[in-house]
Amino acid sequence: MTKEELALAVVERLKQEYPDAGCTLDYNEAWKLLVSVRLAAQCTDARVNVVVEKLYEKFPDVDALAAAGPEEIEEIVKPCGLGRSKARDISACMRILRDQYGGKVPEDFDALLKLPGVGRKSANLIMGDVFGKPAIVTDTHCIRLVNRIGLVDGVKEPKKVEMALWKLIPPEEGSDFCHRLVYHGRDVCTARTKPHCDRCCLEELCGKNGV
Ligand code: SF4
Repeated sequence: MTKEELALAVVERLKQEYPDAGCTLDYNEAWKLLVSVRLAAQCTDARVNVVVEKLYEKFPDVDALAAAGPEEIEEIVKPCGLGRSKARDISACMRILRDQYGGKVPEDFDALLKLPGVGRKSANLIMGDVFGKPAIVTDTHCIRLVNRIGLVDGVKEPKKVEMALWKLIPPEEGSDFCHRLVYHGRDVCTARTKPHCDRCCLEELCGKNGV
């Protein structure tokens, strides 16, 4: 089986296993996802979802958050860790949205990448989830799983994994595929324990590299 064939087979199996997999960060407006992805660095999505409720109670829109001092934001977001730098990035980011984009999140990958605290992973997540565009989100689960499965061979650097997956995954499948890898990585192909290959829907396809 070629890597292309393997990729298509894995996409289909995961689609059957997790038909409704989506982003596990809660948001109802694009700018809120931008805030949440910054807070999610080295923090669980579940904790971020709780913390942002408090943040939006006090600062309910882009203008309010842009007008807030970074220390006011830090006071609320510090349970997510790295409070000072996350607050600084969120503050700077909301000011740019307010001053340069009329309070909206730009629908452009390169413009997203220029926002403070936004890297390729976050920019891809927003392109896929908010704008419904092709996206490959290479988080820790994605990188671990595609190596184990054998879609890439010993590639750990996020951008290199992303570039390899662009060649293998149909663009319209990329965003959902990556969400499904997160679900699978949390429940079955786990990082901290031995992966549960005996109950894995990819068992016959997987190279089990490094397992
Ligand atoms: S077969 Fe094992 S290593 Fe492969 S994806 Fe499933 S749980 Fe992970």
